[in-house]
Amino acid sequence: MNLALRTRLVLASLLSVVVLAGRFDAAGAIDYRFTFPEPQHRWMQVEVTFPDLPEGELDLRMSRASPGRYSLHDFAKNVYDVHVFSRDGRELETKRPDPYGWMAENHGGRATVRYKVYGDLVDGTYLAVDTTHAHINMPAAIMWARGLDDRPSTLTFAPPAGAVWQVATQLHRGSSALEFTAPNLRYLMDSPVEFGPVSIRQFTVGSRRFRLAVHHQGMDSDLDDYVRDVEKIVRQEGAVFGEFPQFDPGEYTFLADYLPYATGDGMEHRNSTVMTDTGSIRTSRRSLLDTVAHEFFHAWNVERIRPRSLEPFDFERANMSGELWLAEGFTQYYGPLMLQRAGIADLRATSAALNELIEAAVVAPGRAVRSAEEMSRMAPFIDGGSAVDRTNWPTTYTSYYSIGGAIALALDLTLRQRSDSAVGLDDFMRAMWRIHGKPGGALEGDVDRPYTAEDAEARLTEVSGDPAFARDFFRRYIRGREAADYTSLLARAGLLVRKRGPGRPWWGDVRVESRGGQFVIAGLVSMNAPAYAAGLEQDDELRMIDSFRIRSDEDVAAALQRFKPGDTIRVVYVDRSRMEKTTAVTLAEDPHLEVLPIEAAGGTLTAAQRAFRDRWLAGR
Ligand SMILES: [Zn+2]
Repeated sequence: MNLALRTRLVLASLLSVVVLAGRFDAAGAIDYRFTFPEPQHRWMQVEVTFPDLPEGELDLRMSRASPGRYSLHDFAKNVYDVHVFSRDGRELETKRPDPYGWMAENHGGRATVRYKVYGDLVDGTYLAVDTTHAHINMPAAIMWARGLDDRPSTLTFAPPAGAVWQVATQLHRGSSALEFTAPNLRYLMDSPVEFGPVSIRQFTVGSRRFRLAVHHQGMDSDLDDYVRDVEKIVRQEGAVFGEFPQFDPGEYTFLADYLPYATGDGMEHRNSTVMTDTGSIRTSRRSLLDTVAHEFFHAWNVERIRPRSLEPFDFERANMSGELWLAEGFTQYYGPLMLQRAGIADLRATSAALNELIEAAVVAPGRAVRSAEEMSRMAPFIDGGSAVDRTNWPTTYTSYYSIGGAIALALDLTLRQRSDSAVGLDDFMRAMWRIHGKPGGALEGDVDRPYTAEDAEARLTEVSGDPAFARDFFRRYIRGREAADYTSLLARAGLLVRKRGPGRPWWGDVRVESRGGQFVIAGLVSMNAPAYAAGLEQDDELRMIDSFRIRSDEDVAAALQRFKPGDTIRVVYVDRSRMEKTTAVTLAEDPHLEVLPIEAAGGTLTAAQRAFRDRWLAGR
């Protein structure tokens, strides 16, 4: 390097410091650089410079939590080859205070950290690097320093040699196509990046701009068609709230990886969402659009209408919230509702989606032991985590997505019924938006008026005009364990809720599998199953059902078919102690439900039912 060039570089870097100082005016921005020397080996090189450090130790961390996912993670496990350098370029020795941290002193007020991070999971929480792209969820990838949360950062991406990649993200644009900025750590952590050969489509609704950035193996024409459906969903959701949020970078971005090597996931962020799936637009369109509808609804519900229990989000420990029945469950309800209003799903499909919610509230056994609030508080164990030991969750836990969705359905129909369709759940969501979401935060990315369950109850009081109704609804369905009367609620809209197999004998949803020639109960037996009451449990070997010897899965079904609900049958089995035992099972009627339009069941839709249904389901 010659002297003239060196001088130019120094001048250029001085200039960039001036520009940065002008933009952020506080202490210097933290500078992240991402490079991909060997993408085929799935790791990324990160270099981060922390300027203007206070004296004392630099306390470097890898996150244990990622916004929108509630279980703990060990992102530090994929980090290696860590080097920390002082202001004058000396490599510093680091200490490890715990498995997630590195500490360094004598940095001289400025430190540069270099490390590699491995990642090979295309989803909404982790890091994935390969020759086709880099799919980056920041908490899985970046090291940050305690005490610098309010510092802005700049991010620069360099593609692997020869690759033509572009960045799609909700980060703010920087001074070049591969440079971006974040106003603070919380916003940075909330900003996933897809760096690869993305195809981008744009549309506007009113004054708002939307981008769909897709990394896929399909045709351009698939995408042109798909984006029209995405726009329909966006319009319907805007109509629920009456307006769109102010998107901080000036637009909202749907980031999609529809790739054979992705896993099925959707993750909400303030101004973007990550949607990943093994299916393509061509093969999985309906389910992909369902994810679009769910995730975009989160732009209001959870990103801005935010439970106090999640604000601010803690990156170092599990974030527990008793309000996920509202944050996730109500969003789960609006997914299929929006597909129906957008004309993407027909009433048969919507009825099937509602049936899943109703089953969670009425048939699934979990509600007997946990309320919707308690299910919500299970998220740190369940959402993205896995237990090493066995649990009895299949029978004691019902997802807050479905139970919350069922509560949303009950509330929507009850409000409509009470008001002759003048008031519905949309009004409740708008009230939540007006009071808790729209005011926003003094700092970008923050929510200054998050809600508690008591606040949600107060909004319901306002919307319904009836404090006793609101109190009772929360007491019975949210803090309590009751299920609403879905049959009569849905009848208003001419939807029939009925038993799927009337008169069919049922001893539980018992799965039987062959293990080395023995026929064994393969999963947990539900608390509400006659087989449970009779003492049968997972791993028990079935020998006889009444006079039938069990030699296959079909034998079990065939044996049961010979009886009717109310009959008591003798079951011979071998339990864990290898003792042969005999028990008696009194069969019940299959409790599973189906929901269908009354006209599809041979009935007639009345004018009142048609009017109620249209006010509820017709596009806005
Ligand atoms: Zn969600």
